[in-house]
Amino acid sequence: MTEHAPPAPKKQPDAEADVIVVGAGPAGATTAFYLAQSGLDVLLLDKSRFPREKVCGDGLTPRAVKTLVGMGISVSEQDGWVRNKGLRVIGAGKRLELPWPELASYPGYGLVRTRLDLDETLARRAQQAGARLLEGVTVTGPVRDERTGRMTGVAAKATDGGEDRTYLARVVVAADGNSSRLSVAMGLRKRDDRPLGVAVRTYYRTHRHDDDYLESWLDLWDGDRLLPGYGWIFGMGDGTSNVGLGLLNTSAAFGHTDYHALLRKWLEGMPAEWGFTEENRTQPIRGAALPMGFNRTPHYYQGLLLVGDAGGMVNPFNGEGIAYAMEAGEIAARVIVQALGRPTAASTETALAGYPAALKDAYGGYYTLARGFVHAIGKPGIMRFATRHGVKRPAVMRITMKLLGNLTETRGGDAVDRVINALSKIAPAA
Ligand SMILES: Cc1cc2nc3c(=O)[nH]c(=O)nc-3n(C[C@H](O)[C@H](O)[C@H](O)COP(=O)(O)OP(=O)(O)OC[C@H]3O[C@@H](n4cnc5c(N)ncnc54)[C@H](O)[C@@H]3O)c2cc1C
Repeated sequence: MTEHAPPAPKKQPDAEADVIVVGAGPAGATTAFYLAQSGLDVLLLDKSRFPREKVCGDGLTPRAVKTLVGMGISVSEQDGWVRNKGLRVIGAGKRLELPWPELASYPGYGLVRTRLDLDETLARRAQQAGARLLEGVTVTGPVRDERTGRMTGVAAKATDGGEDRTYLARVVVAADGNSSRLSVAMGLRKRDDRPLGVAVRTYYRTHRHDDDYLESWLDLWDGDRLLPGYGWIFGMGDGTSNVGLGLLNTSAAFGHTDYHALLRKWLEGMPAEWGFTEENRTQPIRGAALPMGFNRTPHYYQGLLLVGDAGGMVNPFNGEGIAYAMEAGEIAARVIVQALGRPTAASTETALAGYPAALKDAYGGYYTLARGFVHAIGKPGIMRFATRHGVKRPAVMRITMKLLGNLTETRGGDAVDRVINALSKIAPAA
């Protein structure tokens, strides 16, 4: 009889939970909040420690306000939130102020808040609800069942070095942002048939810091070509404005654009007294990608749900990502709670497999319309026509704002709401 060495003892996991959420940005923190509120044991892992910076425009529409309020977060001005009344659109020599619509479904105001503050508020809110937040933990890859390939947890290490760790759970959520290494490790790559944006931003000391409108500029020129995108100036209320611009990948200029130079050129045309000069710049110009219109699918695969930028959930119409990351977090949490309440592994799996359909119900048709829109404005003639003729007509712009901001009554509403909702319903889900 030959002697066999005993099998190496399996390393004990460092922690186990019902659900592991990777990434504690808006998507992950909201998912963890709703899971913990429903009584599940949640591990929320983030490679950073809060407060931490995130490249963003810091603008929150009424959709985002609704999600914050829904989580019981105080959004009062005493608590440091800066309110805005609507959107100021500037283009083709015209400027138009469009107040946010007053609806039953959404509040009639937006907010501005640095991501340093916003993301910490959200992460702490998830913690208060009972989620176990581990900061400074970088997830390095999935742990999978050897037989089925299904995810059973994640491998991780302390961001500042140290031993490898293992965390196990029945379900894992990838809320690790645009690059979503976890999704990639499970074979889920970005789709190149879906829109993508790139945006850059910085901050300037300026007297325009207490603007009560979010300002967006449609005139971004590359020589004589009008680019599909917009520039923004959002007053932070602290002596600075967040100033940036974003472009879509549907134009020929995408990939060949020097974003820093484009930003500088755009700002050179601003009145000198606004102070958007190098001496007044308080932060480096930094940029990142905006993954749009469900550009990573499927949203559920082998024990892993994708939420927020990880699942490419930025609205292609306007580049807004925070509200969609948070709303999708709530949808994912509701699916997981139901799934884990089922008696067998097979019935749990059936419920989890319903997550992509729940997302399609919420955004599928609308994102299909948005894809058509971004392809159209990728053609310089159409962008020029829309800017020149749209900004002159307040009624057209009010409708456009509802469509681009996805701000319609969910039920009923006026004629415009009903047309937008009907179009979103009949468009094939993205
Ligand atoms: C320049 C710019 C301007 C923008 N402006 C706006 C705006 O004004 N309004 C708006 O609504 N949206 C805006 N967006 C989009 C918005 O920033 C994103 O859609 C939003 O941050 C998505 O949230 P998220 O939670 O999915 O991802 P993220 O906010 O990217 O959070 C991901 C989290 O995962 C963590 N993480 C990543 N990898 C790991 C790992 N391996 N292990 C552990 N943790 C990990 C990160 O530390 C991070 O905390 C802008 C984007 C850009 C680039």
